[in-house]
Amino acid sequence: MPPDLQIVNARLPDRDGLWTVALSQGKIAAIAPAPAPSANPLAITPQESAVKILDANACLLIPSLVDSHIHLDKALLLDRHPAQTGTFAEAMAATLKLKQGFTVADIQARARQVLESAIGFGITAMRSHVEVDPTAGLRSLEALLPLRQEYAWGITLQLAVFAQEGITQQPDTLPLLRQAMEMGGDAIGSAPYVDADPKANVRHIFDLAQEYDCDVDFHLDFLDDDEPLLLPFVIAETQRRGWQGRVCLGHMTKLAGLPPEELANLATALRDTQISVLALPASDLYMMARQDTHNQRRGVAPLHRLAERGVNVGVATNNILNLFTPFGDGDLLKICTLLAQVLQLGTADAHQRCLAMATTQAARAIGIVDHGLQVGHRADLVLLKASSVSAAVGAAPVQRTVIKAGQVVAQTQLDQQLFAPGQKVAA
Ligand SMILES: [Zn+2]
Repeated sequence: MPPDLQIVNARLPDRDGLWTVALSQGKIAAIAPAPAPSANPLAITPQESAVKILDANACLLIPSLVDSHIHLDKALLLDRHPAQTGTFAEAMAATLKLKQGFTVADIQARARQVLESAIGFGITAMRSHVEVDPTAGLRSLEALLPLRQEYAWGITLQLAVFAQEGITQQPDTLPLLRQAMEMGGDAIGSAPYVDADPKANVRHIFDLAQEYDCDVDFHLDFLDDDEPLLLPFVIAETQRRGWQGRVCLGHMTKLAGLPPEELANLATALRDTQISVLALPASDLYMMARQDTHNQRRGVAPLHRLAERGVNVGVATNNILNLFTPFGDGDLLKICTLLAQVLQLGTADAHQRCLAMATTQAARAIGIVDHGLQVGHRADLVLLKASSVSAAVGAAPVQRTVIKAGQVVAQTQLDQQLFAPGQKVAA
């Protein structure tokens, strides 16, 4: 069967030279070296005349970006409530208040803006946490469920039912979480550090995951104090419940403060339980180490150290322009740049690993295992105007062509004009 789309003259992240990548029925059908320069790369045989050709012009073709941790329902709230103190306590209190005023239409309007930008940036899969509690009710889920379907042409959207406000101190939360799973939640999670009884909170989430046979996604150890980690308890529960390979942990900022031996032991346990760890550097850098008066710590989970021990690690956006993170536009490639900067990852090899954290490994963290530049994997790809992975991670180029399930779904060009002295500015 002839391919539906053939990308010619593409650079690939992990091999030299130029390549042709053929896509068929939403999958990668073939990856082959580009024809020798003497041959006409656009030549096609008559029986293949229906094949669409996309000439990459030596740009870099990467697996598409996967934003494995974002909050669509509380994105873009900063204009509504600018930060007064900029503290985590203010972010929790003010966002809870704002949630009371959320309507389905309001959540959808903000989510659409983020989803459409995301597709343009080359994000073709995303896990959004969806707040479910006595204040938010089920409004966020009611708003986002139809969008999961509506935007499926450009992005695979997973909805993780999320108890942001604790569980044990608000017993009404549990039946709501159950109802949300009945409505179609894809995964379940919470932020145990805001619960009066964090261990009971974790147990409740695992109970629900077992009841609904879904993945678990915790916001965990998002602190920089000397209190013990909750991670060993989550690892033990993962083993006890047989949930290996189905648990993803976001933030994990406390790992940044551990001595190497302690980190190594935890990394081994994370690897053995196949738990994924996601750093959310835009939020983590903003919220951590606020007590430090000088020589301020960074507070971003040392993903590179975990990866050295075989842990699946990823990087994600978390929040966009709200009180938890008053920055960002949802471009995960820029967050990848930030991660490389803050973890001081500057070599070509390290940049390769950073890119994997925003693409194939991020996909694996949310249960997508057929993502990447391999024959048979899903044809979700991005063509970047970059000559190498280092150039892509280093500069997050604007010009991108986005392919979802073998179809071009977005293209961004840069329209820039310079006006040297004496040159007329175009009207
Ligand atoms: Zn989050």
